[in-house]
Amino acid sequence: MRIALISDIHSNLAALEAVLADAEGHGVEAVWNLGDTVGYGPDPNGVVARLREVGAVSVLGNHDAAATGLMGTEWFNTLAATAADWTRAHLETEAATYLAGRAEVVVKGEWSLAHGTLREPLWEYLTTEEAAEGHFERLETAYSAVGHTHVPLLVRRGARGVEGETPGEGSEAVLGEGPLCVNPGSVGQPRDGDPRASYALVDSGEGTVTHHRVAYDIGETQRRMRAAGLPQALAERLAVGR
Ligand code: ZN
Repeated sequence: MRIALISDIHSNLAALEAVLADAEGHGVEAVWNLGDTVGYGPDPNGVVARLREVGAVSVLGNHDAAATGLMGTEWFNTLAATAADWTRAHLETEAATYLAGRAEVVVKGEWSLAHGTLREPLWEYLTTEEAAEGHFERLETAYSAVGHTHVPLLVRRGARGVEGETPGEGSEAVLGEGPLCVNPGSVGQPRDGDPRASYALVDSGEGTVTHHRVAYDIGETQRRMRAAGLPQALAERLAVGR
């Protein structure tokens, strides 16, 4: 089975549509979404509707929790808090109910899915060896996938401890070589200097995971953000992928 791992869509419907079209071209049958479905971008309702349409599995992200009132915005920076308040005011009941009903950790077969880490699903960034160790200590399946950093990453735990690498576009990793954590990067607000939408494709039959980048109409999302009155800085960063 081919599965698209997506994360941090952040209400960017143009980016999500481009990724879903690309994934469909690769014969994807399932979509697993690692949270921060909303926040920052202009289309929270459209994004949730599209995810439901494709039957995506989604976990809860910190921005989803803030936008649905499950947590406050006091830990957010000003721009994120402004966007969270905007999202909360514009979320339709159906979309809010969907988001608020997501679990922090979901297990699908051999995979555990969370937004941050398995130790701190909503908040922890898997960017240090210590965080990776804490994550793998809680891993009860063979593989895992997280988001939250908006930067693609591949981490393995072997005899010599944890080892991370930054997977480039098209790079392929092999499953079955011990515990693994995949971060597919961000669909709707990449932060690794490449503004194209990022996702990963798991092929459970072939036993591989590959990283993909997809160009989308950034100008369209920026126009919609300006029309919505969202902070200009959030629109501008999309063009540079930071
Ligand atoms: Zn995020």
